[in-house]
Amino acid sequence: MAAAGGVRVNAEIKDLTRIERIGAHSHIRGLGLDDALEARKVSQGMVGQTAARKAAGVILQMIKDGAIAGRAVLLAGQPGTGKTAIAMGMAKALGEETPFAMMAASEIFSLEMSKTEALTQAFRKAIGVRIKEETEIIEGEVVEIEIDRPESGNVAKTGKLTMKTTEMETLYDLGQKMIESLQKERVQAGDVVAIDKASGKVTKLGRSFARSRDYDAMGPSTRFVQCPEGELQKRKEVVHVVTLHEIDVINSRTQGFLALFAGDTGEIRSEVREQIDTKVAEWREEGKAEIVPGVLFIDEVHMLDIECFSFLNRALENDMAPVLVVATNRGITKIRGTEYRSPHGIPIDLLDRLLIITTQPYEEDEIRLILDIRCEEEDVEMTDEAKELLTKIGHETSLRYAIQLITSASIVCQKRKGNEVDIEDISRVYQMFCDVKRSTQYLLEYQEQYMF
Ligand code: ATP
Repeated sequence: MAAAGGVRVNAEIKDLTRIERIGAHSHIRGLGLDDALEARKVSQGMVGQTAARKAAGVILQMIKDGAIAGRAVLLAGQPGTGKTAIAMGMAKALGEETPFAMMAASEIFSLEMSKTEALTQAFRKAIGVRIKEETEIIEGEVVEIEIDRPESGNVAKTGKLTMKTTEMETLYDLGQKMIESLQKERVQAGDVVAIDKASGKVTKLGRSFARSRDYDAMGPSTRFVQCPEGELQKRKEVVHVVTLHEIDVINSRTQGFLALFAGDTGEIRSEVREQIDTKVAEWREEGKAEIVPGVLFIDEVHMLDIECFSFLNRALENDMAPVLVVATNRGITKIRGTEYRSPHGIPIDLLDRLLIITTQPYEEDEIRLILDIRCEEEDVEMTDEAKELLTKIGHETSLRYAIQLITSASIVCQKRKGNEVDIEDISRVYQMFCDVKRSTQYLLEYQEQYMF
């Protein structure tokens, strides 16, 4: 697969990687602020933590005004007080196009790549490139026809066929081939064509679907489509956002784009990155591309060591740098790789760059509201009494533990063929799974029976 300028880009992959990153926070749709940046008590999936949310909103405003270059944000607070949730809310509020990369600091200690490589990849996942392309589009309503094979019926589905040709040809390699084939085969509006999904080869079958021959011989990967009636449209400009990391992976010869799905990208050679940076700089100059700085969120930042902290300091100086949001639940502790103690285990020179937002422990009524939202998100019906008990458990143990019990209690409820999670389901799973406090208690009591 070659491409103009030797750099390959692929926009399709982005959504898949993004979906994977959500989950425990899928109920968060923004920071839930009003126009004056005041936090509404419950809004966009967010509950309470109003001062921190407002502060995050002010930072968002600074990001939008381009006034935060070289700075970073620290979310400091006890476990389960919504630090990740707030970072997620910021990303959502910045919009779909803004890349958001999330990692736990301990992920950088891997055998597969060096610490700086892992951090470089994380930074590049949070830098988007908005590419504008001169593109021809052939677009129209088409009827997609499924062939009568033993398992499937003879169904006609209405769908949309979009074929594109582009300057950056690999992006729509298949589309390009299709269009060539369409032209070669002199396909006209209304014709039924068979498209081989693997090769993009188009075979004209004529206007009448019924008279078309030998469908089965064309193999199961063939799509049969009726071309749009009337004129095929042409449009000019297409814009999409990919991250620098995606461009890196697609262009690193040993990996290929499949590595993006596996998340198994290995180290990327510095020549590849240099080539891409040069190309992107050219596109920027030609007005074909713009940089979209995103958000890089590093959780448990106290797990980074002194080398990583100096990398962060340097990386923040770069004019393409994303907004760095770090979080920790530690107080004064040792900076890894040194003998020095420092607030949050972060060196003073980096601390100095940070805008610090603190999060507070939740009150019972806030825990209850968050549990309500999670039940709805996970489609779990729960009685009021069960919610009350779960709220108490969340208050005594941790919010995250209580949230986790929702899913398991719902399974226990299904097993007994119940419709609503009740008190017994909650107490069953509470006995089944230990929270950290009970687990520690157990260890203290029985530690002599464990291996040393
Ligand atoms: P840790 O220090 O352990 O990493 P954290 O402060 O990052 O914890 P989160 O992971 O954000 O905590 O919170 C735990 C769970 O509670 C998540 O599912 C999160 O989405 C949810 N949550 C936390 N705070 C809120 C909030 N204010 N509104 C809605 N949901 C919240």
